[in-house]
Amino acid sequence: MTLRIAVIGAGASGIAAAARMRAAGHETTVFEKAARLGGTWRENRYPGVACDIPSHLYRYSFAPNPDWTTEYAGGAEILAYLDRAAEALGVAGLIRCGEEVRRAELQGRRWRLTTTTGDAGAFDMVIAAMGVLHKPVLPAIPGRERFAGPAFHSARWPEGLALDGLRVGVIGTGSSATQIVSAAAEGAARIDLFQRTPQWIFSVPNRPIAEAKRAAFAAEPERMRNLYDLLGEAMNGRFAAALVGRNPEALAEIEANCRANLARVRDPDLRARLTPDYAVGCKRLVISDRFYDAIQRPNARLVTDPIAGIEPEGVRTAGGALHALDVLVFATGFDTFNFHRPTTVLGRGGRDLDAEWAVSSRALRSVAVPGFPNFFFVGGPNSPIGNFSFLMTAEAQVGFIEGLAALIEDGGTPRLVAPREEATQAWNARLEAAMPATVWAAGGCSSWYFDRSGKVASWPWTYEDFTASLARPNPAEFEIA
Ligand code: NAP
Repeated sequence: MTLRIAVIGAGASGIAAAARMRAAGHETTVFEKAARLGGTWRENRYPGVACDIPSHLYRYSFAPNPDWTTEYAGGAEILAYLDRAAEALGVAGLIRCGEEVRRAELQGRRWRLTTTTGDAGAFDMVIAAMGVLHKPVLPAIPGRERFAGPAFHSARWPEGLALDGLRVGVIGTGSSATQIVSAAAEGAARIDLFQRTPQWIFSVPNRPIAEAKRAAFAAEPERMRNLYDLLGEAMNGRFAAALVGRNPEALAEIEANCRANLARVRDPDLRARLTPDYAVGCKRLVISDRFYDAIQRPNARLVTDPIAGIEPEGVRTAGGALHALDVLVFATGFDTFNFHRPTTVLGRGGRDLDAEWAVSSRALRSVAVPGFPNFFFVGGPNSPIGNFSFLMTAEAQVGFIEGLAALIEDGGTPRLVAPREEATQAWNARLEAAMPATVWAAGGCSSWYFDRSGKVASWPWTYEDFTASLARPNPAEFEIA
């Protein structure tokens, strides 16, 4: 049976979902709010934007890429990969750009979607692949609107804006700020980094991948698979297990790396100000072998005096100093865990997902929600966000959703498949019980891993546990009507 499936979002997870549903023979439409595909890699165009997952892990298994030019790919190269993959997998032609889904309502046995351009029809199944980090947060600093020059969020970089010769201010010290400062410090006249909380920074070189090696990958895909296995073991086996309290030795190695990296800061005062007071790995680890060089440049300043306000000329700090600037970048992160927002999602009996998830987002195995049959998530609640490859995790979730689609179509007419409330409760109780052992919960920091209820909302087990949990749906966990 062919199902009529809507995918919301044409980022990395939406492309994966659409590719698999199309390959399974379903009639698939992808709704994308923007003018092109790409998700986070379309939105983030700041200088130095790159992925902190090894490039050879950052790909779909069904669209291998021998052509990565560096060990950690830059944003533009990833966007180009997604473009190619969407074309090769037959997804590009399924995308309806410029159509944001505003409402999804279960009417009888189908989901009716309304987009910014009107009624989009009824679907047997909906896959929400809307991303976690897509709603920029601008800080509530007095005078934010008064700055005279360009002032913008890191994910809203003005087309063509270069920082060479300018006095640049960057607020924030996460992955985005660190990459911007590392890339811009050399050309800028001055760079002021406004730090509220220092970060642990893990050093990994980003080496080019030689042309001969790329040619060998293309000629012998087996080599690529071997590299993938090797990297998978390092990232998923050691790194990720360390963060969830399952590999203390590996966590000690990560800490040693971060401390050795920090020791490269020569000035003891600067080093002290850059030293976090929480456990390594508690906040999402920043990956950079360039940042400490950048911040030690004579034209760079680390500002730790709290920000008092923003004025037309620059940023005023609490001690009274005015930091005069030409450009101000808010690398202040995202309003996370907005899996379905701003779409209104109305399930069985008019249940409103917004209300149900007002404080905490709960799902069964990160994919399905009681009361919302045939409406599934990629990158949903408790998806692994602790340094796994998002493309790999999206693929695992899409595989599970394919299993759910099989349950839906297992009959003469499409059936309604929703998780049982008790199964979902039991699943979430297990998640909650496991969370305290993770470094995110126990490490003494605050971060975007915490949801509105103050709970860490990531995946508290290993990568193997994750893929095993999604091997195939257990019909006993679902109501099938
Ligand atoms: P982030 O990690 O949430 O960092 C936001 C930064 O802004 C923090 O340093 C925060 O300080 C600071 N901040 C927020 N409000 C502030 C205020 N009012 N005054 C002063 N400082 C303020 O955001 P991000 O750097 O954009 O990164 C988000 C996530 O995106 C990353 O963790 C990562 O998962 C992903 N990402 C990945 C890459 C990559 O692959 N390399 C690159 C960019 C982003 P506090 O710590 O004190 O709250």
